[in-house]
Amino acid sequence: MPVPLLDLSRQHAPLEQRFAAAFDAVLKSGVFVLGPEVEQFEREVAHYCGVKHAIGLSSGTDALLVAMMALGIGPGDEVLCPAFSFFATASCVVRLGGTPVWVDVRPDTFNIDLEDAVRKINSSTRALVPVHLFGQACDMECIQAIADKYGLFIVEDAAQALGAKYQGQRVGSFGHFAAFSFYPTKNLGGFGDGGMLVTQSDELADMARWLRNHGMHPRYYHKYVGGNFRLDAIQAALMRIKLPFLESYHENRAANAAFYLEALNGVDGLILPVVRQECRSVWNQFTVRVTGGRRDALRKYLADKGIGSEIYYPVTLDQQECFREFGRGQDCLLNSHQLADDVLSIPVFPELRHEELQEVAAAIVDFFNS
Ligand SMILES: *Cc1c(COP(=O)(O)O)cnc(C)c1O
Repeated sequence: MPVPLLDLSRQHAPLEQRFAAAFDAVLKSGVFVLGPEVEQFEREVAHYCGVKHAIGLSSGTDALLVAMMALGIGPGDEVLCPAFSFFATASCVVRLGGTPVWVDVRPDTFNIDLEDAVRKINSSTRALVPVHLFGQACDMECIQAIADKYGLFIVEDAAQALGAKYQGQRVGSFGHFAAFSFYPTKNLGGFGDGGMLVTQSDELADMARWLRNHGMHPRYYHKYVGGNFRLDAIQAALMRIKLPFLESYHENRAANAAFYLEALNGVDGLILPVVRQECRSVWNQFTVRVTGGRRDALRKYLADKGIGSEIYYPVTLDQQECFREFGRGQDCLLNSHQLADDVLSIPVFPELRHEELQEVAAAIVDFFNS
């Protein structure tokens, strides 16, 4: 039985009529960029995260960029970024002339190693980017203590973690800014690109709103050089239909993850993901580690059975060609480099059927027994 890594049609099929009605309403309204649907969606996401402000943006990448712009990151500024993450975590810094400083991650949670982060702080360090990778929050208590002590900004890269909790509190409410993505593979997937910034600060929210619209304030008077980072009304209208189901999607992902953690427990050669006690993961990915250099062989074994998997991420950020001027972490980013060789993400999407979960787990067990 083939099992896809992700099948969005299962999530969308029961909502099709409501999507069609929402599309129709936006069509008739004639408001296609920002406007009331976006404002309503912003209020709903802010409420969901327990934060004061949400600013709808064109993508998660642009959300990170606008956050860095609003905080004034530029030449001479260093920003601590985990080396094991998606490209946009660091490209937002580089695009503004700043310098990303690579920090290693922990091998168990895949999240930023804070001892390594502290070692890399100096008088040029301005900000720290905790990435809540695969849906699990970073150690925000420790991060806030570090940020307070050294006077750093925190920009949460929460692209994969809308709804995740740390000590019972949702991510997004810890940093000066937090960036979310509505790319279709994220837990709240849109119908194209989309993103959001959230913040508790009135001043930062104003700044982000101006920057997303060419720094215009008031109309046609440009106080800052911003860009076009606006969210479309159709995206907001359609995602507003999905948002009330987000908790049930998370719960299904968590149940799927629990199944794997049980079914794959003790398989020799396989390291299962660890969720810390104070965290509630939203399981954007279920990512295992394969020891002994057999990751690619497992991936091929699964592919031959029609089972989808993906490598997030095969190359660390310090190894990316376009970032070579910022130094390679040959000796100091050992965990990150090991993970790039070891990790494999397997299907965990909310609508997976029980037989499919069994199929995936059985195939993995078979691989290690053969
Ligand atoms: C998806 C993602 C982004 C970028 O979001 P887009 O909406 O695709 O631009 C940034 N950081 C991380 C960790 C992501 O997973």
